[in-house]
Amino acid sequence: MSDLRLANYIGGAWTASDAKQQHDVLNPATTELIAQVPMGGTAEVDAAVQAARAAYASWRRTPVVDRVQPLYRLKALLEQHAPELAATVTRENGKNLAEAMGSVRRGIQMVEVAIGAPSLMLGQSLEDVASGIDCTSVRQPMGVFAAIAPFNFPAMVPMWFFPFAVACGNTFIVKPSEQTPLSQQLMFELIHEAEFPAGVLNMVHGGKDAVTAIIEHPDIEGVSFVGSSPVAELVYRECGKQGKRVQALGGAKNFVVVMPDADREFTVKAIVDSAFGCCGERCLAAAVVLAVGDSHEWLRKGLLEEMPKVTVGDGSKPGIDMGPLITKTHMQKVLGYIDAGVNEGAELLLDGRGIDTGEKGWFVGPTLFDGVHPEMSIAREEIFGPVLCVSKVDTLDDAMQAIHKHPLANASSIFTTGGKHARQFGYEVDAAMAGVNIGVAAPMAFFGFGGSKGSFFGDLKAHGREAFDFYTDRKVIISRW
Ligand code: NAD
Repeated sequence: MSDLRLANYIGGAWTASDAKQQHDVLNPATTELIAQVPMGGTAEVDAAVQAARAAYASWRRTPVVDRVQPLYRLKALLEQHAPELAATVTRENGKNLAEAMGSVRRGIQMVEVAIGAPSLMLGQSLEDVASGIDCTSVRQPMGVFAAIAPFNFPAMVPMWFFPFAVACGNTFIVKPSEQTPLSQQLMFELIHEAEFPAGVLNMVHGGKDAVTAIIEHPDIEGVSFVGSSPVAELVYRECGKQGKRVQALGGAKNFVVVMPDADREFTVKAIVDSAFGCCGERCLAAAVVLAVGDSHEWLRKGLLEEMPKVTVGDGSKPGIDMGPLITKTHMQKVLGYIDAGVNEGAELLLDGRGIDTGEKGWFVGPTLFDGVHPEMSIAREEIFGPVLCVSKVDTLDDAMQAIHKHPLANASSIFTTGGKHARQFGYEVDAAMAGVNIGVAAPMAFFGFGGSKGSFFGDLKAHGREAFDFYTDRKVIISRW
């Protein structure tokens, strides 16, 4: 068996997978083969569920102050290994080292917040709800949960979930993206070193079959999913049929409104960072800029000045702002959107096709369209690449209408120096993550993360206090003595 073939982590031990199919993972900057992922299914998921169920019996009875101790150890190990983890993210995903390190730091903050479980799991009580009768509401863990992750934040996204779930007393299975499995491979080495009891945290590699096995397994209580909207919707629907608790975070098409009174230089830089950071493969990336009135002229000029400064290449090398796209297939999809934008009549101001970085990987340069109409495919669909669309609108009300018409609503931002505009935007915008003079409106670990409309399926968002609601059931105990 090849040295590059990855193992699952089940019941506290590395376990070779019997899966016949495997997925080759290539470094997207160099095209070098870096891992082979066993595409597990029912058998592998079932083995992990058995281990997690066995561990649950004693883990749920472990006092919460003791349950958070391995998380303290994991936090220390993550600090120590953060550079290695960031380098792994860059190697398998392509984003540059600073971006990778930023995502690792965000992940570590999840552990820090989850460690607050003894306070954050507190229930409520009231005496004499009727004469001589007291009432207590406690939060209890529910059993085995699973997370299904996307390729774009391979270290961070699983950390939105597992620290909270296990701190609450559940046991857990992570299914990393088959496109970027190595960060979680390293994560589980650290989890092993942190000495979580065997079976509390498990990892199964795979793709669609593993996801189906998770959805259909009767002993998995709930699922946290992050990925594209069609799959998020499918996971939500199918988990619902199985009676599972589910939160499914989907895709995005994020609007940015620019008012004529916005700080020009700051706004242009923030939009460029948002649209082209992580090569546009970010669910919070600016996708469509709605330039209100006179802002259109200075914005267009500013973007044309700023965007060519974005350096493109292998993100592991110094001085690189933007790395490659994740795969050749995805690069071809992004190039197809640029072709479509031209064919549909948008004005191509900067063309990222055919960029030569001197590397072998899958690069597309920063691309800018102006004159984009809502019915064009580049305005409607998630491109998930370095393509920014600009549309001119007359008023903030027009901008709000355009935003409200779009079926996706993950994040949205306004750039303005006017409190009135900022207030109207915050009040009316239907994306659940809203920014005022913020390019990437990313809630931190102690707030909930997740969009609205077709970008989110479920009720409770990821991390923050909502994680303690998602990963526990509330029991009310009414007593008379
Ligand atoms: P994806 O939907 O292709 O894959 C996500 C996960 O689902 C992977 O683990 C994959 O193995 C599995 N999967 C893929 N196809 C499946 C199918 N047909 N049936 C069952 N399982 C399937 O997403 P991706 O390409 O890995 O990630 C990019 C997407 O994720 C973008 O749409 C992006 O906006 C979204 N995303 C959203 C958020 C958010 O917070 N809303 C965060 C990160 C990424």
